[in-house]
Parts: sequence; structure tokens; C-alpha cells
Amino acid sequence: VAGGIGASPSPPIEPVVRSTVDGVPVFFVEADGPTVAGLVFRTGIADETVQTRGVSHLVEHLALASIGEQHHQHNGTVDLTTTNFAVRGTPEEAADFFRTVCESLANLPLDRIRLEGRILRTEASQRSTGVAARMAFYRYGFTGNGLSILLEFFLNDPRPEPLVAWAKSRFNRSNCALWIVGTYPGGLSLQLPDGARCPMPSSTQIPKLPLPSSLPGGNDCVAIDYLSPRTSISTTVVRVLMKRLHAEVRQSKGLTYMVAGERTPLSATQAENSIWLTCLEEQAARVRAELMSILDDLATSGPQARELAEDLDGFVRHQDDPDARVQDVSYAAQCEITGMEYPGRAGLLEERRAVTREDCAAELRASLSTSILAAPAAAGKAPPGLAEYPMTCPQVAGEVFRLRAPKQGASESLIVGTEGISRVAPNGTAVTVRWSECVGLALEEDGNLRLMAGDGFMIRFKPDDWERSATVVQKVATQVAPEQQIGPEI
Ligand SMILES: [Zn+2]
Repeated sequence: VAGGIGASPSPPIEPVVRSTVDGVPVFFVEADGPTVAGLVFRTGIADETVQTRGVSHLVEHLALASIGEQHHQHNGTVDLTTTNFAVRGTPEEAADFFRTVCESLANLPLDRIRLEGRILRTEASQRSTGVAARMAFYRYGFTGNGLSILLEFFLNDPRPEPLVAWAKSRFNRSNCALWIVGTYPGGLSLQLPDGARCPMPSSTQIPKLPLPSSLPGGNDCVAIDYLSPRTSISTTVVRVLMKRLHAEVRQSKGLTYMVAGERTPLSATQAENSIWLTCLEEQAARVRAELMSILDDLATSGPQARELAEDLDGFVRHQDDPDARVQDVSYAAQCEITGMEYPGRAGLLEERRAVTREDCAAELRASLSTSILAAPAAAGKAPPGLAEYPMTCPQVAGEVFRLRAPKQGASESLIVGTEGISRVAPNGTAVTVRWSECVGLALEEDGNLRLMAGDGFMIRFKPDDWERSATVVQKVATQVAPEQQIGPEI
């Protein structure tokens, strides 16, 4: 078949050369043009807690603080499971960059902690939380992958001791890998302290979460999040799904503007996939129905042969692109530190060629049993076959507090007991943070108290708005362990 599977000629595939420099695994592919390289550590947001949220980001900024203005381009990034230092320039510039980064990591400029902390808080104030972060939060609450939705609380009061301990345990030679595309830099030196590889963070789903489930969340898009094996089958499904959504929901029906997706490795064998479509509120029900119907079709019949062939063809063509080398070599480094076997480009191509319609359908069918679907409230109740995601909790028994100036007819209350705290809305539904599940208590700059539970429930209130506020604050403070409190003492 013209254009069918196997019809595209395979491009020459340069193997990735693996070596070791100062105990750090190095993955290299020779190429013309500037040298592009990255040092990647196995630590990220999902390793943090509510209290240490932002600590890897602060280490990253401190490590780059001494570099200043340079001709070469460089940057640092932190994602859920990795912290990255990347550079693009001459081989000499790359070698210099990594020497400086390693020296700084081993000897962080602690005098800059407060200043960099302030810069990061400004950075955060200009960033909006992504859809994938929101979906992970619905799955994990205020733990693991769910943490990226949260403010970087560590920056409120960044103390040197926990920062240095964090850097020492994570930014070491056994917990990183370097990748290079271009000319191999002479004099490469990566002097990092000894240490151990950090296992992947164990993101634990909210206990007793009914799955698959659906919730009203976000008013600008319809999103689905599901877990899948970390295979070429599941990446194929995601690409085919997104392409179909684009063709049918945008191009042919005009119901969405953007179809987007994000995939996060959870372990050597499992990944989390978030896919979303922007929509107007009045179209939310239709967009959700379209998404469900396309998913259903893919999970029943798999992609069409034509879709699989196009997908494979796209992969083969992409191999000529210089970006493909960078992706491939950085993927090798990522596999190394996340405990996954790197198949090589030839291996990846083999895996892709072996993907069948039946594999895709079967894998998606199994994966969808883990899904969480979010849509604007206007979309209405959960679609058939999906449970309603729990948005309220049973309330605790305890002392009842009322607002000093209640709104007409409304009778909101706070209940503080030995098991936890509940905020009861005028309609009688409650949100509860159980003391045993409390993962953070913050006193915010605007005077609000914020209590967070591992299961994602949160209560935020201004004590002064409530009768006998001193009693409320005192009761809360005695129940929450000091190590869970953030920022100024309450
Ligand atoms: Zn930053």
C-alpha cells in the first residue's frame, strides 16, 4: 500500500554513545551546528511536600545565580520528576556551564536565598496553573504529582538547613545524567558530591476515589486524565486521539479552539496522560460528548490502519529533524535516571512498527477505567458509566462557630472537633479537613488561614470573620503538628 506501514525508508540512525564523566552517565550524539546539552537530575515537584514546595526550584535558581549574562543560551527548569540545566553554545561554553553549575550545586550561594526566593515568588505570580496540574490535583490531592498546583510555600521562609540537606541528598553524581548533541566538549568536568539515586516519587491516589469519575472543574475546557503503561502503544493512542479531536471537534464542528495534551512518567512502567480541549461554557456538554464518543470508538476499534500509518510516517520523517536528536538523547538521559530501559532510535522505530489497532484498543480500554473527566459545570451531571467525583465530605462533630456578620438568610458555619474541621455551606454540604489527613496549615499574607488535606480538600477562612476567632485559631493550632505549619506561626 502506498504510504502504508513499512513503506517509508528508514533514515540512517546514529547511535547514542554512552560514557561516564566523574561518575555521571553521559549520552552523546555527534552533530553539526551548536552544541546543545542538558544535565538532568532525578528530583522534582512530586518529590516535595506542601512545606517544601519550591525547594528544587530554589536550588536550581541558586545554582545558576553565579552565571550572569553570557553569550550562550542557558536555562534551568523543574518539572514533576526532574530538574534540568540546559545550554546551547560552543563546546567550550557548554563545558564551562556544567563546571559552574556543578560547583554551585556543591556549594550553594546561601547569602542569596532570600533574594532568589523573592524572584521566584514573582515568577510564580505571573504563571497560571496548567490543566494537567489541575487534573493531577484531582487524582492525588496535595501530595506527589498533585503538588504542582500549589504555591511554592518553601519560599515564604526559605531556611538554609533544609535547603542544603535537600541539595545534598538529590543533586549528587548518582542521581543525574548528562546529554549532549553537537561536538563533544573537551575538558568536561562534573564534580558533584557522592550520593544515591532517588527512586521515582510514589504518587498515591486519593484513597477511595471512585474511578472512572467526572466532576465540574474549570470553566474553559473539557479535560480527561488517565493512567496508562509507559509504552509506544499508549503514546500512539494519545497522538491519534489528539489528531482526531482536532479534525472532528475543531475543524469539522468548530466546537474547540485548542486540543492539547501532557504526559508525565510516574514510574519505569506507568505514565499519566492529560488531554484537554478548550471550549465555551455553552458548548461544554457537546464537547464532552464528542470527547467521550471518540474515546469510546478508539477503545472499541482502535485507530484506523490509515491513522497508524500516518503516525508511523510522521515519526520516520521527524528523524531527519535536528530536534529529533535532542529529543532522543535527552530521552536516553531521562530513561537512565527514571529507571527505564532506553530502546534506542532503532528500538523505538521497531516498537512503533509493531503497534496494532487491537493493542491500542485494548490498552486504552484498560486505561480508561482509571480516568477522571472534568468539564465546566454547564456540561451537567456525569455521563453514563462515570461516577460523580466527590466534592463534599461528611462533617465532623464538634464546637460550632458562626460568622460575625452572616449574609441575609445564609447560615454558614465552622465546626471544630477532635477529628477535624468542617466548613458547612448554607445548603448543608460540608468540606472537611481531618487532622489525621492534614498536610499543611498556612497563615497567608492577607490574614487567611488555609488548611490542606492529603485528599485535596481545603478550608480557607479569615479568623476575624468568625465569632470567638481566638478560640477557633487556638483549637486549630493545637491540632496541627508544628512541622505541618507554614510561614508565620499562628
Ligand atoms: Zn525559575
